[in-house]
Amino acid sequence: MNKSHKHIVIIGNGISGVTCARYIRKNDEGVSITIVSGETEHFFSRTALMYIYMGHMKYEHTKPYEDWFWEKNRLDLVKGWVEKVDFGNKKLNFQNGKTLDYDVLILATGSKPNKFGWPGQDSIGVQGLYSYQDLESMEKHTQNINRAVIVGGGLIGIEMAEMLKSRDIPVTFLVREKNFWDNILPFEESQMINRHIKEHHIDLRLETELHEIIPDESGRVKAISTKTGEVIVCQFVGLTAGVSPNVDFLKNNPVEENEPSLQIQRGILVNAYFETNIPDIYAIGDCAEFQEALASDRKNIEQVWYTGRMHGETLAHNLTHQKSVSYQPGIWFNSAKFLDIEYQTYGHVPPFWDEYIGSFYWEHQGGKACLRILYQKSDMAIVGVNAFGWRLRHEFFDKAITDGWKLEKVMVNLNKANFNPEFFEAFHRDVLKKYNQETGKQLKVGKTSFLKKLIGSRA
Ligand SMILES: Cc1cc2nc3c(=O)[nH]c(=O)nc-3n(C[C@H](O)[C@H](O)[C@H](O)COP(=O)(O)OP(=O)(O)OC[C@H]3O[C@@H](n4cnc5c(N)ncnc54)[C@H](O)[C@@H]3O)c2cc1C
Repeated sequence: MNKSHKHIVIIGNGISGVTCARYIRKNDEGVSITIVSGETEHFFSRTALMYIYMGHMKYEHTKPYEDWFWEKNRLDLVKGWVEKVDFGNKKLNFQNGKTLDYDVLILATGSKPNKFGWPGQDSIGVQGLYSYQDLESMEKHTQNINRAVIVGGGLIGIEMAEMLKSRDIPVTFLVREKNFWDNILPFEESQMINRHIKEHHIDLRLETELHEIIPDESGRVKAISTKTGEVIVCQFVGLTAGVSPNVDFLKNNPVEENEPSLQIQRGILVNAYFETNIPDIYAIGDCAEFQEALASDRKNIEQVWYTGRMHGETLAHNLTHQKSVSYQPGIWFNSAKFLDIEYQTYGHVPPFWDEYIGSFYWEHQGGKACLRILYQKSDMAIVGVNAFGWRLRHEFFDKAITDGWKLEKVMVNLNKANFNPEFFEAFHRDVLKKYNQETGKQLKVGKTSFLKKLIGSRA
């Protein structure tokens, strides 16, 4: 084990910063580690914010570690907002006037909700949903209101709609696209979500853009207008048109002569080792932007929970071992929930695909579950999977895509991918029936023991 007496400072106590801190401590007992955050004293699960508002959880329940964990592992916590990083003198300057020296600095500062310069966007009762402070503000500004408008159809927009509906607040949902999230989802999947949103009595307005937010004399939102001139009276506006790296405080530092300045494009530019252009400064998680594409189907900024964890773990390894390893992103995976419909995606499923890609699509007759598998027509190897309303096993598809399983092999073994076979066995039979109809084949469900051998006992 490496022993060092360096002081590593991490700005950000989210999943990437905390994972990095934990693994550094695991590998190096000597190093001193400080985690800085302006948001909350302790790490909490950002993905669970909605459940606090809906009354399913209390903030305390969203903390993955008990409060004693940090002291026991000698992870010093500093609560405060960093205003400026003095890269020349290796010092953080806090809003409250305090300073903190570092030897190594890890930037894990996350994202911030996008605002596109809409008139009235800074009115009272207009906000995104990202931080714990956003949750508090939403709590405050949604008391006794008659209508909320949400602008931007993505994963956070639909979460906000569900939160508001849980309190019986009528919601109008403005979505610029033709169908819900159709810049990410293929046509049938986004149609399914359109229907589902409407079934929940959410006033979904497709192909509708925000023009202006109209405040009253006290500065509080009283209405919005759309680009077609419609005025919608509301007392709360949720801005959920995506997020961007939270890096503003690192830009335009008044740079003193010869002081290095951090290279930032949309995010903080890093290589595959999470190194920035300045020695001893690293960036991980949502705020990092890879200089070079990781793979043809991967974005240069990764804004999901599990990749933040992988970034943190990889960097911790490199800071505590002689031999560095580059980030290996593996097969893309994402999961979310559209109201009652769970969503999982594996590998590459774009909204449109090239000629050489084939698509198998099955939809349950109830219209609330579907499965899409994309494959290469040349050798039938699968490249991507979308599953809605049906939870499937991550390790199954991770292996199937990595190992280039052919479509038929996936088809006959789908029962082993089923997370809740007792509920969804019929889905698999139905999928196979459709596949057999389309291909004229007579495939049957495979044997469990075969798959256990292939993907291990957890299958
Ligand atoms: C409502 C919501 C739901 C989501 N649901 C999912 C989901 O279901 N699945 C999924 O994969 N992902 C989801 N995400 C995305 C996921 O939460 C993020 O990708 C992840 O939390 C990013 O982790 P991070 O460590 O990079 O940054 P963050 O978790 O954003 O942490 C950054 C930290 O940096 C601190 N910080 C920033 N600037 C400063 C400063 N100047 N001074 C001091 N401290 C600073 C902040 O206090 C903050 O705590 C969701 C996000 C939101 C907002």
